[in-house]
Amino acid sequence: MQLERGLYIVPTPIGNLSDITMRAIEVLSTVDAIAAEDSRQSLRLLRHYGIDRPLLAYHDHVAEAASSAIAARIDGGEAIALISDAGTPLVSDPGYRLVRAVQALDLPVIPLPGPCAAIAALSASGLPTDRFLFEGFLPAKSGSRCQKLQAAANFRGTLIYYEAPHRIVDALADAVKVLGGDREAVLARELTKAFETLHRASLEDMLCWVEADSNQQRGEIVLLIGPSDSSQSSIDDATRTLLLRLGEELPPRRAAALVAEFSGLKTRELYELLIAERSKDDNA
Ligand code: SAM
Repeated sequence: MQLERGLYIVPTPIGNLSDITMRAIEVLSTVDAIAAEDSRQSLRLLRHYGIDRPLLAYHDHVAEAASSAIAARIDGGEAIALISDAGTPLVSDPGYRLVRAVQALDLPVIPLPGPCAAIAALSASGLPTDRFLFEGFLPAKSGSRCQKLQAAANFRGTLIYYEAPHRIVDALADAVKVLGGDREAVLARELTKAFETLHRASLEDMLCWVEADSNQQRGEIVLLIGPSDSSQSSIDDATRTLLLRLGEELPPRRAAALVAEFSGLKTRELYELLIAERSKDDNA
């Protein structure tokens, strides 16, 4: 196979070594060099597939210099692959500056699809997949972590976080504090590996479960959190307030029909929200 010059973004397995595409193996076997985050880790992986190509060091603290050098080699006609320690490069992994440097010279960047822990976890989570917010790693300190969780609290879809095992209990405790204990959550641990675990529970129960079993505080973890009941609705806060206020003056159907007329939302959705809010008040 003859490869055109360019930067090839090549995902590698996140655990199970069979999770690599035929095209990834072809590209890695053919490129002029492979830019890798950790050469020892990558050598082990490449040897497993019988791939023997020169390795170039690429990590965040040498990104500036390494990016220019690699972009210059591509400009000179070479095909270079970028891999990370696991999964898709650039997804919570180095590579951003390199992609920018190559694009700045108007050279091709060619993505290969493949393993990514966030997407694998989402696909099996049973949480909404039509909208999701990938936030990478949560901050290590509780104050900043709570701020980051708060900023995503009203997102109308699934929240996805990578988390280190020694911080998962603290992260869950902060999530309960900021988002409430009722939200549905999924802990996806050691995906594609021997101890693969996908556990679904409310945030509160998840915290108890992880606290009680130290095995759940080991390995690689993706934490997914479903939307709150109110954020699942397509009704924004201003419309909701108006609806509730009109509902105090008018019969629910009339209030819902009026708001529907001006907002373009469905009368039925608005009516159901109003009834649900009323029964909350009645039960309070
Ligand atoms: N680029 C990678 C990707 O595409 O998923 C992610 C790299 S990031 C440095 C590493 C984090 O991804 C881990 O700390 C963990 O949160 C998550 N991760 C990686 N492999 C995983 C696995 N097999 N199971 C669950 N989470 C995993």
